[in-house]
Amino acid sequence: MNIHEYQAKALLREFGVPVSRGVPVLKASEAEAAANTLGGPVWVVKSQIHAGGRGKGKFKEASAGDKGGVRLAKSVAEVGEFAKQMLGSTLVTAQTGAAGKRINRLYIEEGSDIDKEFYLSALVDRETSRVAFVVSTEGGMNIEDVAHKTPEKIVTFSVDPATGIMGHHGRTVAKALGLTGDLAKQADRLVTQLYSAFIAKDMALLEINPLVVTKQGQLCVLDAKVSFDDNAMFRHSDVLALRDETEEDPKEIEASRFDLSYVALDGQIGCMVNGAGLAMATMDIIKLYGMSPANFLDVGGGATRDKVAAAFKIITADPNVKGILVNIFGGIMKCDVIADGVVAAVKQVGLNVPLVVRLEGTNVDAGKKIIRESGLNVLSADDLDDAAQ
Ligand code: GDP
Ligand code: MG
Repeated sequence: MNIHEYQAKALLREFGVPVSRGVPVLKASEAEAAANTLGGPVWVVKSQIHAGGRGKGKFKEASAGDKGGVRLAKSVAEVGEFAKQMLGSTLVTAQTGAAGKRINRLYIEEGSDIDKEFYLSALVDRETSRVAFVVSTEGGMNIEDVAHKTPEKIVTFSVDPATGIMGHHGRTVAKALGLTGDLAKQADRLVTQLYSAFIAKDMALLEINPLVVTKQGQLCVLDAKVSFDDNAMFRHSDVLALRDETEEDPKEIEASRFDLSYVALDGQIGCMVNGAGLAMATMDIIKLYGMSPANFLDVGGGATRDKVAAAFKIITADPNVKGILVNIFGGIMKCDVIADGVVAAVKQVGLNVPLVVRLEGTNVDAGKKIIRESGLNVLSADDLDDAAQ
């Protein structure tokens, strides 16, 4: 689960992390009052969407101007003007895809005098089974590009969960960023606070880009992206309350209600598969035969008939879907349960596109019989090649 920048900053502030003061606004009419409470003389008007690259983003509407999704304002009136232009407009960034995202919220922040911009993130590193930090002097840039072009500018280390953060971690960060004296002490404090927040809130990713040194000699978190481990959300009702469903794909929200591993994609072939590996292989073979998958979907091992039916409805509701491929290798999942679910869903919502079903494994004969006797127009396949073709 992702949250907005302003929510991430409020959360980090609880752990003592230095962030600028700011006010989130939902209506342009609130923007000037927000700017007045902050004082000035400079403000930053920041689009709040679940995507990065906002600063360099472009609005679809000419009325929103060409100054990007993060703007420096020099007066309260200018804050109001930017808010009017940006709210309700659609921002396209390197991370939103061509459709862009509608700006429903802004964050008005006091402006900082930036001396240097750095990159700092923490994430769960599966290789070491630890929380790892990634630090670089190249802030404000796309970290993937830095890793590609100048890998020597990236420093990483992981934290032993038994000891937690120790003095040497702080020194490693300070050294990587070229910080000495009081700034090195601030870096040490910051790393400790970030690690505490990461662990306490079951984060999956905490990315600060940029972390800045101000001309006043203060470290400050200027941008923050936080994602949480979905499996831990049951114990963080405070975090769950921050969920903004308008930022999510409605099909994925529906899928999450049924606990389905579903990811919307932009192809034409809907797929329903059991097992993540088989789902990936199915997507590959669809590509191999010249089409693209409309989704990733792993119905899992213990899916019930209702869950299968829900999954099938989500697939058929996608207007991009021009054909459906059901590929089930029955192990724990039984072929007849899948067949039942598919038939039940088709009876409810109809079927306007070709449906290919490939069943194999546990209860395959019972499954095939259900499909055969349903009277539905289903193309039956025996193996994966055959089904994809
Ligand atoms: P992103 O483009 O979505 O990553 O949004 P950021 O929050 O990282 O903002 C983009 C850029 O705007 C930053 O890298 C900074 O260079 C600039 N910026 C953000 N806040 C301030 C500020 O308070 N003062 C100044 N001078 N620049 C800022
Ligand atoms: Mg940024």
